[in-house]
Amino acid sequence: MRAALINFAYLVAATLFVLGFKGLSSPRTAVRANMIGALGMLIAVVATLLDRGIVSYGVILAGLGAGSAIGAVLALNIRMTAMPQMVALLNGFGGGASVLVAGSALLGALALGQALPYQSSVATAASGIIGAVTFWGSLVAYAKLQELVPGRPQAFPGQQILNGGLRLVSLLLGAWLVREPHATGLYWGLVIVASVLGVTSVLPIGGADMPVVICLLNSYSGLAACATGFVLNNNGLIIAGSLVGASGIILSQIMCKAMNRSLANVLFGGLGAEVATGPLADEVYAGKVKAASPQEIAMVMETARRVVIVPGYGMAVSQAQHAVRDLARLLESRGTEVEFGIHPVAGRMPGHMNVLLAEANIPYEKVKEMSEINPSFEQTDVALVIGANDVVNPSARTDPKSPIAGMPILDVDKAKTVVVIKRSLSPGFAGIPNPLFAADHTLMLFDDGKKAVLDLTAALKEAT
Ligand code: NDP
Repeated sequence: MRAALINFAYLVAATLFVLGFKGLSSPRTAVRANMIGALGMLIAVVATLLDRGIVSYGVILAGLGAGSAIGAVLALNIRMTAMPQMVALLNGFGGGASVLVAGSALLGALALGQALPYQSSVATAASGIIGAVTFWGSLVAYAKLQELVPGRPQAFPGQQILNGGLRLVSLLLGAWLVREPHATGLYWGLVIVASVLGVTSVLPIGGADMPVVICLLNSYSGLAACATGFVLNNNGLIIAGSLVGASGIILSQIMCKAMNRSLANVLFGGLGAEVATGPLADEVYAGKVKAASPQEIAMVMETARRVVIVPGYGMAVSQAQHAVRDLARLLESRGTEVEFGIHPVAGRMPGHMNVLLAEANIPYEKVKEMSEINPSFEQTDVALVIGANDVVNPSARTDPKSPIAGMPILDVDKAKTVVVIKRSLSPGFAGIPNPLFAADHTLMLFDDGKKAVLDLTAALKEAT
């Protein structure tokens, strides 16, 4: 009866997780969906606490207290632009927890002299391998994004062979552990080999590929949790882990598609090694870039009937979203039609721009996806690009040798006038020059994103 009730609670929790995921697919329902998912997690945690295996509530409460305090401090202090690092750490801790839980379950079973069923030993090996790769891979990803180590791909000779060898050795150790589940040394040996694999797998990846890797590691952390669920015979953990594993893979695929890359290419290709050099940038820009003042740009915008605003990573860095909303409202009050065009990989995480625009209360119906907005650029008087670079780089369409060749972009260059706000001619994350900045119909406003938008708004008001 008790077991049936616990499983029923897990079923309710799993249903809430699925409903939560469904709601997260639209900004309109995302906040409520988050609460639904959190409620599911609360039910799952309470069900687990009421389950038989609990040894000491005191230790659990102490862990909960310490973990919640650290989590709250991190969440309150994290800058929006440092979110990928935070997610990397959270994934890593998930993987590390799976390694420790599976290891302690193994030790516990051996101490009690219990025979390990085939299912448990396979799952223990899987937890150890996937969890250790996730933990160490995520720490390397964190160090790269936090610039504690160089963010560029760190390639070394024979790296694919080494990684292939490490994969093989960890699988062989896993198979050996399944045959001899009482050899605990094998488990920790497997964890060490997989830890090295985690480091050497993420080191060669860098640049704009890091967020994809983080999504993939997120998926791995779910798979490790799922395997640990089999170790513990816990249906809640199996379902929650599978959901995280599947959604992480789907997200990685969506991001790869938006960058026109295959997952294999991200993992083994090493974008970012092919960084453009100075002379190439000079060739593109020399004598062709037109800088303009906020007043000059205000004069262009005064007569515009339709303006499309395209935000990118620089809007997030400068936290310009509220200033952008005020500019959009001012333009609308003057009779200009304003819409926002969002590229799926603008910023540094999926949905980055949508979150920022929602935070500034910009109506959802004005925020258009790339496929919706692209056909309208030809009828647009001004495309206002705020801190975006790679996602509006026409070389993706025109230069087959470009590292971003084939990546779908926002066709801002088809608007009558393009205004680009950024601080300099520095490249974006892909490290390549952008011919849009040198186009005849482009005006550059070189400044911090927020300051530039405020100055532009003030200049427009003066003109009114
Ligand atoms: P980019 O990284 O291409 O460019 C951002 C631009 O913002 C820079 O050129 C920079 O120029 C400018 N900038 C930085 N700080 C400021 C500031 N304070 N004020 C004004 N401008 C500023 O960004 P995009 O959003 O166009 O493209 C995202 C990139 O990230 C793509 O390469 C994409 O593939 C990659 N990526 C994104 C993922 C996601 O999930 N969103 C996932 C995977 C990859 P300057 O220094 O001159 O100001």
